[in-house]
Amino acid sequence: MNRRSVIQASGMGAVLQAFEPVLAKDAPRMPALFMSHGTPLLAIWDNEYTQGWRELGASLPRPQAILSLSAHWLTRGGVLVTAQERPPMIYDAQGFPPALYDVQYPAPGAPALAAEISGTLTLRSALNAEWGYDHGTWVVLTRLFPDADIPVIQLSLDYDMSPQEQFALGRQLAFLRERGVLIMGSGQFVHNLRLMGSRTEAVEPYDWAVEFSEIVGGWVEQREFAKVQHYRSLGQLAMLAHPTWDHFIPLLNVLGLVDKEDELRWVNLGIMSGSMDMRCLVVG
Ligand code: ZN
Repeated sequence: MNRRSVIQASGMGAVLQAFEPVLAKDAPRMPALFMSHGTPLLAIWDNEYTQGWRELGASLPRPQAILSLSAHWLTRGGVLVTAQERPPMIYDAQGFPPALYDVQYPAPGAPALAAEISGTLTLRSALNAEWGYDHGTWVVLTRLFPDADIPVIQLSLDYDMSPQEQFALGRQLAFLRERGVLIMGSGQFVHNLRLMGSRTEAVEPYDWAVEFSEIVGGWVEQREFAKVQHYRSLGQLAMLAHPTWDHFIPLLNVLGLVDKEDELRWVNLGIMSGSMDMRCLVVG
C-alpha cells in the first residue's frame, strides 16, 4: 500500500464533520500497556495468562476510551484510525474451533476522538470506516474489560517506519493519557510462529527465546530504550525472536510514551509453546 492508497483505503470521505472534544479535561492519568496477546484461543481458554489479564484489568482505573495499536493491522506509508460508531469484529485468524468465531466484543467506537487523534499526528494518517476490532485487540480486551462498555479505537501500524519512528509515535500519543485514554500496544515480546510448539502441551521454551526475553526485558527495566530500538544489533537472536517485526512494533510505540515518573512492571512472565513470550508491560 503506498501513501496515496492509505488515504484512499480510509473510506471515510466527508462523513465526519468538525468534532467537539469528547473527553473530560480532569480525567485521571492513565497507565499504558504492552500486551503479548498469544494465541487467539486465549479468548476462549482460561489459564494462568488469561487470569493475569483479568487481574490486570481489575487493577486499572476505568479509562474513558481505549486506543489499541495491534500487530494485526499493518499499513504502509501512513496510519489509519478506526472511526465508526459500531466497529465490526474482524476474525482474522483462520483454522480455529467455531467457538472462536462466536466471540463478540461489542464496545462502541469513538469517531470524534479518532478524528482528533488522526488530526494530531504529524505523520500521514487518515480515518477508516472498514477495519474494526482484530484479534490483537479483542483477545485481550475480552479479559481486561469484559463488559465491553468502554469505547475502543484502533490505530494501524505503519510497517515502513523505522524503530526510531515507531518509538517517536508513542511520544506523540502520550498526551492522551492525561485525557483518560488507555493506550494499549498488542503484540508479542517474542514471536516465532514457524518454530512454535504445541499450544496445549507444556513445552520448554527455546534457549534463544529465553535469552532474547531476558536481554530486552533487562533493557526495558533499565530504561535503555535506545538499545531496544536497536534490538536488531542482537543479530541472529533478534531474527529468531522476531522473523518479522510486526509483533515487536507495539512495544516500541509503548516505550515511546514512558516518562520519568512512570513505574514499569511485568505481568504474565512466561513463554508459551516454546517461542511465544507472554510478557506484558504495565507503564505508570
Ligand atoms: Zn498476533
